[in-house]
Amino acid sequence: MTIAELFSSLGDNPYFGAGFGLAGLGAGAAVLRKGLVVATILFRRHCMISMEVPSKDVSYQWILKWISVRGTKTHHLSVDTSITQNDVGKLTTKYNFIPSPGDHFFRYKKNWIKVERVREQQMTGAHRENPWETVTFIALGNNRSIFFDILEEARMLALDSIEGKLITYVAKGAEWRQFGFPRTPRPLSSVVLEEGVKESIVSDVKEFISNQPWYSARGIPYRRGYLLYGPPGCGKTSFITALAGELQFSICILSLSEIGMTDDRLNYLLSIAPQDSIILLEDVDVAVAGRDMSREDPDRFAGMGSLTFSGLLNALDGVASTEGRIVFMTTNHLERLPPALIRPGRVDMKEKIDFCTKYQLEQMFLRFFPDQNQEEATVFADCVMSHGQDVSAAQIQGYFMFHKNDPKNSN
Ligand code: ADP
Repeated sequence: MTIAELFSSLGDNPYFGAGFGLAGLGAGAAVLRKGLVVATILFRRHCMISMEVPSKDVSYQWILKWISVRGTKTHHLSVDTSITQNDVGKLTTKYNFIPSPGDHFFRYKKNWIKVERVREQQMTGAHRENPWETVTFIALGNNRSIFFDILEEARMLALDSIEGKLITYVAKGAEWRQFGFPRTPRPLSSVVLEEGVKESIVSDVKEFISNQPWYSARGIPYRRGYLLYGPPGCGKTSFITALAGELQFSICILSLSEIGMTDDRLNYLLSIAPQDSIILLEDVDVAVAGRDMSREDPDRFAGMGSLTFSGLLNALDGVASTEGRIVFMTTNHLERLPPALIRPGRVDMKEKIDFCTKYQLEQMFLRFFPDQNQEEATVFADCVMSHGQDVSAAQIQGYFMFHKNDPKNSN
């Protein structure tokens, strides 16, 4: 049988013909599938543009807010609840709706835009309490300006809502995360310190901010450190927060006694603090004590390392940036701080924020009871002083709250 006869007889065989046909179909489908994948890749590469915003980027929170306000009318939302406490201790809860992880579509300037919000659980490390996330915008065409417009709108929207407000950041893992909503800052005048103390710190900080060329001309790192020390409840934190509001800065609060604080983490956090912010390091004396928590309680702090005194000094020395870095440290125990920590360059100005003096008692009385006169304020201050006991401003505030409708009886 010749080869031609063999093929013709196979062709006449219905089983072989069907098998051959099926194989051909399968191969065709595979080629088609491959072609589609390649076409999709080519289409995405040449006819679509995308922009990825990772959660560690400053614009990430703005973008989420912008999407929920201006962009998609998505039915699938995540809630971001924040509880804030005002100066008299009243708690307020706010719900902020943001698009949930997944895909969302919306139209923007006559373009269809797809938004993919992806959450990667596996990147939640020991120091990262929030999952790593990205938001990716995908649009047709090659006009990149659409993304600039979105970012700019998101920034304006964020700035509108925070104009004149104080933003507080707290350290979460290796990042600074905004804590609660931006709030109206407490006026500096509401923090009553001993005569002249407030004014001298404020003028020093303002001079520092306006003097950047002086530092660069002399090659001096552009940073300034302040230490406020004294008993608790006398206004250290309140003053620093009010000062940030006065300067229209944000405040980054870091407790050095926090679990999981290590040399590396502190160093990194200080180097990435947001621009125009005051860094507040609380409880510096605890870091100085050099307690190695991973040794004290190995089960709980295993592998976490610890913050050492030299790590703290390195981090402080490394803090410098062109826009100027202002670091405030607070402690209740100045005597526990070694001279190396409070030498100029690390602490350029230190002030004691002490128990109330007669002047402060009078001022607080007049602020709390604006209808009362100086004479009544003096009677109140004399009365408190006559007990011969140290009182903090926080105690006086609590006392006033108790007698808020009855100033006469507060004496
Ligand atoms: P510290 O940081 O010194 O421990 P805080 O600033 O946390 O003290 O003060 C605790 C509370 O007491 C705050 O609610 C604040 O309103 C009030 N307070 C403390 N000191 C003052 C002050 N000097 N003037 C006005 N209020 C004060």
